[in-house]
Amino acid sequence: MTLKLYNTRTKTKEEFKPIDPANVRMYVCGPTVYDYAHIGNARPVIVFDVLFRLLRHLYGESHVTYVRNITDVDDKINTRAAERYPDLPPLDAIAKLTTETTAQFHSDVAALGCLPPTHEPRATDYVAKPDAASDMIRIVQRLIERGHAYEAEGHVLFAVATDPNYGKLARRSLDEMQAGARVEVAPYKRDAMDFVLWKPSAPTEPGWASPWGYGRPGWHLECSAMSAALLGETFDIHGGGIDLVFPHHENELAQSTCAHGTDIMANTWMHNGFLQVEGEKMSKSAGNFVTINELLNSDNFGNQYWHPRVVRFAMLGAQYRQPLDWTVDRLVQARSTLLDWSLHLHDYPDQSEPNNDFIGALSDDLNTPAAITIMHSLAKNRSNISDIRQLKACVKFLAVFHNETQADLLPGNKVTSFEDSKLVEVKINARLAARAAKNFAEADRIRDELAAMGIALKDAKDPATGEIVTTWEIAR
Ligand code: AMP
Ligand code: ZN
Repeated sequence: MTLKLYNTRTKTKEEFKPIDPANVRMYVCGPTVYDYAHIGNARPVIVFDVLFRLLRHLYGESHVTYVRNITDVDDKINTRAAERYPDLPPLDAIAKLTTETTAQFHSDVAALGCLPPTHEPRATDYVAKPDAASDMIRIVQRLIERGHAYEAEGHVLFAVATDPNYGKLARRSLDEMQAGARVEVAPYKRDAMDFVLWKPSAPTEPGWASPWGYGRPGWHLECSAMSAALLGETFDIHGGGIDLVFPHHENELAQSTCAHGTDIMANTWMHNGFLQVEGEKMSKSAGNFVTINELLNSDNFGNQYWHPRVVRFAMLGAQYRQPLDWTVDRLVQARSTLLDWSLHLHDYPDQSEPNNDFIGALSDDLNTPAAITIMHSLAKNRSNISDIRQLKACVKFLAVFHNETQADLLPGNKVTSFEDSKLVEVKINARLAARAAKNFAEADRIRDELAAMGIALKDAKDPATGEIVTTWEIAR
């Protein structure tokens, strides 16, 4: 099976050829741990989890190394820690905030069915080493030695003008980048585009001893150091959200290639499109900011509780590079599909391998909508056991269903237990029997009774058998 991936670096969909098929290496920029992850942050985590699963399927489980870092040193962290824990010494407040936020992130993404990456480095572990220059400090030293960086007022800056390839990833000219980015103009910079590799810390701020004084790394440097330490100077795939192309990835690329004297940092650069909420950019001020935690645990979004499998399935309904409008309708639709499928999937054992069409769709630049269309067609013919088994292999592959009952997939408010959902099924069968006996008044009465419980019924004819199939969902 040929895997094709869209490469931001070349702006084309290319056949993916790993440097070493026995060790396919992928780095994805992880969260900055200062607050709950929102549903937009969940997108790259889910998308690259699907890619991780696909790579493991194609190359073998032990032949894929996936690194997703934790950024635990950042100015946003310092500010938030001081706000949240004003009574603690700054460094303790920072440690508490990053520990708590990391734990919350782990529980959120595990709930969303994401496998842990092979390595999850924390930036702070790569800043200092007790008796040797750390990975980050070594990169900065090399950049200075090679004439790509300079020290000024306790800062070390990358001199953009020394890298003829700067701008090739984002495919923008220096002028465009300068206009597009909010570059900080500072008196110690030679050029406004130059960016920080190392900056001084106040005594109350997190910092490490360095040849340039007590200070801390710039964000971009962290990923260059962690990816080189765990994956080598050149690796296969580098991913993240589209907003990271510039400046974060452009700067990582410049630092890494100039420090290591390589042409390429990662062969394939992949970026997921942005998610917005009900047609609007998500922001705290617009009041449409949805965290993963809220979505899964409380009623802040459309007064519903959403099962994590439903959230994951809804997320995969759009191809990863496309913008995704996150709406209650999308969630309702995802849920009603899973409710429908779950009825039929329960009785079948797991089948290990999904079929070639399905893997082929995913291998076409992770075309999850095409893969889901294949799943719908497998679901159509309920009496074909091999189709339903195939469907089971597909839902398992995407981790969108794992033997949940219908009740599990529903919000906790109306139908609260498996017994309730069994009752719904009993009533549906009674209604079908009434209709078969042409007792339409009784059939309607049962429908109304279910409606009073907040259950909406949907009848459809099975094209294969001509039989009426009734599915149900929580009415909105
Ligand atoms: P951050 O913690 O802001 O660096 O974001 C972590 C990851 O989430 C990065 O890969 C971002 O590109 C991604 N991301 C942030 N907001 C969104 C969004 N609204 N839609 C999709 N991805 C996003
Ligand atoms: Zn990064």
